[in-house]
Amino acid sequence: MKVGNKEMEIKFTKAEVLKEKPAPGAKLGFGHIFTDYMLIMPYDEGKGWHDPEIKPYGNIELSPAAMCLHYGQTVFEGLKAYRTADNKVQLFRPEENFRRLNRSNERLVIPELPEELGMECLMKLLEIEKDWVPSKDGESLYIRPFIFAIDPFLGVKPGAQYYFMIILSPSGAYYESGLNPVNIYVESKYVRAVRGGMGYAKTGGNYAASLIGQDEAHKQNYSQVLWLDGVEQKYIEEVGAMNIFFVIDGKVVTPMLQGSILPGITRKSAIEVCKSKGIEVEERRITIQEIADAYDAGKLNEVFGTGTAAVISPVGHLKWNDKVMEINDNKIGRISQMLYDTMTGIQWGKIEDTFGWTVEVK
Ligand SMILES: *Cc1c(COP(=O)(O)O)cnc(C)c1O
Repeated sequence: MKVGNKEMEIKFTKAEVLKEKPAPGAKLGFGHIFTDYMLIMPYDEGKGWHDPEIKPYGNIELSPAAMCLHYGQTVFEGLKAYRTADNKVQLFRPEENFRRLNRSNERLVIPELPEELGMECLMKLLEIEKDWVPSKDGESLYIRPFIFAIDPFLGVKPGAQYYFMIILSPSGAYYESGLNPVNIYVESKYVRAVRGGMGYAKTGGNYAASLIGQDEAHKQNYSQVLWLDGVEQKYIEEVGAMNIFFVIDGKVVTPMLQGSILPGITRKSAIEVCKSKGIEVEERRITIQEIADAYDAGKLNEVFGTGTAAVISPVGHLKWNDKVMEINDNKIGRISQMLYDTMTGIQWGKIEDTFGWTVEVK
């Protein structure tokens, strides 16, 4: 392929033996099974991205001084490949992931990865690994592209050398027993990100900052954390790895993007699906007090999270300090169900993709 004015070939190094694929029906879980191959492409200052290679999945060698290990100059993406009933493999809005990767790159002072080069690398890898896309209902092949600085140097500066990699992991259905409401804990001591920080970038540091809240939530038997803004701890931001939506008195509202929230592709798609069905969505600032007041007034109809992993995650309980709100009698709401059915329908090819969101892997 041509990138800029350079001709680029993706080198393919064959594995001597291929792994045994999980048996159909085996529990896949998330993130611990990896396919036969991975993609790796170095970047060197002055040379740019070069010599992409698809090679057997395995450990990589890094200097103990590699900059990513010390100062966290890393970014990542997450998307899935879905197998449809007629045995096609397709992606959901993958160009959005590469666009967002570059917005993360910019914030972390990592060189741009041309979108078409990222896409080409992904498509080549998937052509080879297509058979790893599982076929049971709700299962998918999780795709993890990521970039990290590898310079062996302990000074603090942006790296001059990087790796771009893609690894693939077959994953089970998020909801083993159907769409189930989750319980969420509102974190009011720690914060995840601030405006002007890197909350909008998909980078490891944001997750490192969030672990302590996740830990506290788990101790209290809640599965995920809802973060409040980093300045006043008044405004709602997002959940662990999901954006958040509320239906208040019949109206769909979600926090507006102001730089501290990850701009989810599922969030964006959910807004577009709502609009296509004539459901208005307000993107604005929402205080946790407004949610508590709406709850007390009996006007908090639905709460749900959006993200690639679960697509739509209805919230059954929301705990803010001593107040526990049970949403919609811990049942899935009408809009949550509609969004879930529409979006998973498009992803697994069960309904027509009138938005033109899917991209087939040939
Ligand atoms: C990835 C991510 C999301 C969800 O984004 P999608 O593109 O919808 O998968 C939400 N919040 C955080 C912090 C994330 O890292």
